[in-house]
Amino acid sequence: MHVPWMTPLSNAPDDRPDPGRAMPCTAHAGAEWMAQLTERLAQAPARGELSLVYQPLVDTRTFRLQGVEALLRWTDAQIGPVPPAEFIPLAERTGLIHTLGKWVLQRACAEFARSLPRVEQPVFLSVNVSVRQLEDPSFPLIVADALARASLPPEQLHLEITESSWAERWDVLQRSLSKLRELGVQFSLDDFGSGYSSLSVFRRLPLDMVKLDREFAHELEGERDPIVRAVVTLAHALRRRVVAEGVETAVQANTLCLLGCDMLQGYWVSPPAPARQLREWLARPARIAPADPVRSGRQRWRRIQRKH
Ligand code: C2E
Ligand code: MG
Ligand code: MG
Repeated sequence: MHVPWMTPLSNAPDDRPDPGRAMPCTAHAGAEWMAQLTERLAQAPARGELSLVYQPLVDTRTFRLQGVEALLRWTDAQIGPVPPAEFIPLAERTGLIHTLGKWVLQRACAEFARSLPRVEQPVFLSVNVSVRQLEDPSFPLIVADALARASLPPEQLHLEITESSWAERWDVLQRSLSKLRELGVQFSLDDFGSGYSSLSVFRRLPLDMVKLDREFAHELEGERDPIVRAVVTLAHALRRRVVAEGVETAVQANTLCLLGCDMLQGYWVSPPAPARQLREWLARPARIAPADPVRSGRQRWRRIQRKH
């Protein structure tokens, strides 16, 4: 499938998973295999097997670049690429997430800061963090250290937190979040609507952004979709911006725009791409034109051109 879009992004190397490739599946693997995989994952940072790819988030109305999300990749020398859906849960279960998470923070801040043009650019970097990382009392220091090493202003860092298993560790998490908040770091609630979707999490956490799970984009029922509209209204009432994740078509993008979403992220905008792409995106964060829009996209594009 050709993903039309963004002139500056259309040449970005495509990082989408290859559906024809057999992936190891940790859910059904035996204990021996899991032990081996854990050992290999523990050695991955030292072996240089980890890397980051980045996916842009754009403003729904202007198509301007707003931020980029860092996504971790692991290519084991023998096994080949292992998907995050396999190794992140493994890292969380075994505690390796602390080492991996620190590596991600340091690398993402460094690569992002290095790619920023000299002129001040209000674009943010989003990094995924696990609840287990937030439970570590030294986590705020790890974040502060990564920011300082990269000379990146804390306001430009967003931490993405998935809403699962909040309730049990509420106190610890709130302490950690308020320390990070004092630093100036911002928070996004990731995959909203995919799991528990507790309204109390939504209300009590110091969130700046809510990311609608990709299921919403894929199961849209047109401009009248009551759930998306209600979530957007609620988020806006609480002064939180809404990102639609997993946007794959112009029709989805248009509908999500009409439903009031503030930002779009997904293959339609651009698949995740290696760090070398960052410099190009950040140097030209201006309006991004769909390369081959379908009719609805073209109408919207004309409206945007008239406005700006
Ligand atoms: P996420 O944070 O919700 O990231 C978005 C996922 O959706 C990414 O999968 C991305 O490649 C994929 N995606 C982007 N656009 C589209 C689209 O249009 N359609 C579809 N079907 N998928 C799209 P990825 O990279 O495989 O990551 C999966 C999950 O692994 C992430 O979900 C995140 O929860 C976790 N993850 C990735 N990197 C890290 C990390 O550094 N730390 C932690 N703790 N978790 C991470
Ligand atoms: Mg995320
Ligand atoms: Mg997500």
